[in-house]
Amino acid sequence: MRHRSGSCSIGRGGRQERGDHGSDGPRATGASSLLNLTCLLRPLLTACALSLAACQAFAADVELPAQAPIPQAREEALRRSPRPPGKPAAKQLLPAAEQTCRAALRDLQASFAEAAPVEKKGGCALQHPVELSFASRHIRIEPPAVLDCQTALVVARFFGTDRIAPKHFRAAIKTVHNASGYVCRPIGGGRNLSEHAFGRALDISGFTLSDGRQIAVQQHGRGQGPEAKFLRDIREAACGPFSTVLGPGTDAAHADHFHFDTKKRRAPYCR
Ligand SMILES: [Zn+2]
Repeated sequence: MRHRSGSCSIGRGGRQERGDHGSDGPRATGASSLLNLTCLLRPLLTACALSLAACQAFAADVELPAQAPIPQAREEALRRSPRPPGKPAAKQLLPAAEQTCRAALRDLQASFAEAAPVEKKGGCALQHPVELSFASRHIRIEPPAVLDCQTALVVARFFGTDRIAPKHFRAAIKTVHNASGYVCRPIGGGRNLSEHAFGRALDISGFTLSDGRQIAVQQHGRGQGPEAKFLRDIREAACGPFSTVLGPGTDAAHADHFHFDTKKRRAPYCR
């Protein structure tokens, strides 16, 4: 595009640039005095007069709109509208089942926060997730797990009443180590989406007990010591409350963690 130079006669161009794009026809070569008068009178040029720098910029280069600050600011504002990405849905917009689920979590004294809804992306979707930080008053999920509420409820019910650790130790579960909650990915090596892609799965890498004992699934998942027996009991007890229970021995992908999910099945799948 040819650059225009000179006085505020660009005021004409400011209104007609779109229609006359690239034209240097007769109107563009009209009497400069008339154009200068137009410059002085036009409202656009009144604004121009308030900002000499902007006026000069317009006069110097008609391609400036791409660099001008106002359009950028408006574009930024539009990106934020109607509400910032990641802002959880308002509580009153939650469906009844979601509200009931949250009430049940509160009854169990679980701690959770509303998490950002997941837009469909490659098929992944999680409309009303929660970020579960405590399965009960005393059992922490670390880091907090993003799950759909029904799965969070199963986790809270399962770990909230810890009867397994006291069978093996003079201690209780203090922390469940979360290796993965929601993540948009297929099942390892395949094309079908994992239950993680819908917030219905929790991977657990290990536990910390109230006496400070650390029990890693990778280290004790297949042993014979008390830690291994504890993990075996956890795994067996999880089969039922969770519809899928996988871990060391299932396959190489689960050698270092338990995978518990709530996929709808006719019968639990525990391997
Ligand atoms: Zn998993």
